Amino acid sequence: MSDLIPAPAVVTCASEPGGAAAIETFPARSTDLEGLAIRRLLPARGRRMLGAWCFLDHFGPVAFAAGQPMDVAPHPHIGLQTVSWLLEGEIRHDDSLGLTAVAVPGALNLMTAGRGIAHAERTPGTHTGRLHGVQLWIALPDAAREVAPAFEHHARLPELPVGDGRAHVFVGELGGLCSPARVFSPLVGAELAGENGARLRVPLRSDWEYGLVLLAGALELGGRPLAPEALHVLGGGRDELCLVARAPATRALLLGGEPFGEPVLMWWNFVARTHDELVAARDDWQAGRRFGEVAAYGGARLAAPPLAARVLPGR
Ligand code: MN
Repeated sequence: MSDLIPAPAVVTCASEPGGAAAIETFPARSTDLEGLAIRRLLPARGRRMLGAWCFLDHFGPVAFAAGQPMDVAPHPHIGLQTVSWLLEGEIRHDDSLGLTAVAVPGALNLMTAGRGIAHAERTPGTHTGRLHGVQLWIALPDAAREVAPAFEHHARLPELPVGDGRAHVFVGELGGLCSPARVFSPLVGAELAGENGARLRVPLRSDWEYGLVLLAGALELGGRPLAPEALHVLGGGRDELCLVARAPATRALLLGGEPFGEPVLMWWNFVARTHDELVAARDDWQAGRRFGEVAAYGGARLAAPPLAARVLPGR
C-alpha cells in the first residue's frame, strides 16, 4: 500500500521559544483512497521509528452514506503488533485465528503478529456513517518476534487527568497508568483530549523519545500553533509536555517509548531483521503456508507485491 503514497515533502525543523528542547516536524505523506484521506506519519523520511512504533497512518474524518470506506482484504503480518484506535466510527477485524472484533471509539484492537497471522479490516455492515482514526504498528523486539499470534480487544482503557484535559492510555504507560494491552517493550500510545482553552500538562519520561500528532481541533505548543498533518518529534530530556487546546473537541496522539535500539527491516506488511526473512514470509503467503485463512472474509485475499530489490535497514 505504500506505493500509493506520494514522495514526502521537505522536512522542517523548529525550536520552541525560550530555549526548550528542539522540535522536529515531519510533514505527512497524503493520499486519498476512494474518498478516505490517509496521512502517513511513520515511517517519515529522516525518522523511521519512535520507541518501538514503526508505522502510523491517520485516516479520515469521512462521512459516508453507502459503501465501505475501509475494506482491506486478508493480508499477512510478521514481527509486529497492529493497533487500531478510532475517534469516530467502526472497523471490523477478522483474523486467521478465527477471532472477530469491532473497534469503536475508546476501545482498542491490538493484534500481535509474532511469527505470522493474517487479518482483514473493513467497515462493518452496521455503522454510524463516520470514520476517523489511526492505524499503528509496534515492532517486536528480537526476543519476542517468534511469539504465537494473538488478538486482544479492550473495551475500557485507563484515563489520566492531564491538567484541564485527559489522556486515554490505550497502549503502554503514561504517568504511572498502564494499559492492560500486552506489549513487549517500554512505550506509550495515548489520545490527548481537551476543550477550547484547556491547558494540558502531560508527564513524560526524560529517557524516552516522544512524538505528537494533531488529530482534530487546534493545539499550541510553546505558544505556537501545532501544524496539522505532521509528526512533531519532541526533543529529548523532557519530563513534561505543556499544551493549550485552541478549539473545541481537540484531540492529539502522543506516541513514545524507549529508543528501540535494534535495526529493523520493513517491507509491505512485514517487520524483520534480514532480507531472507522477508523473502520467506512473502513466499509462505503466496503459497498459502504459515498464516492460515481469514475464513470470515468473503472475498479474495491480497497478493504480495514483487520483492525485487534488497530491502535495507533504516533508522
Ligand atoms: Mn494489517
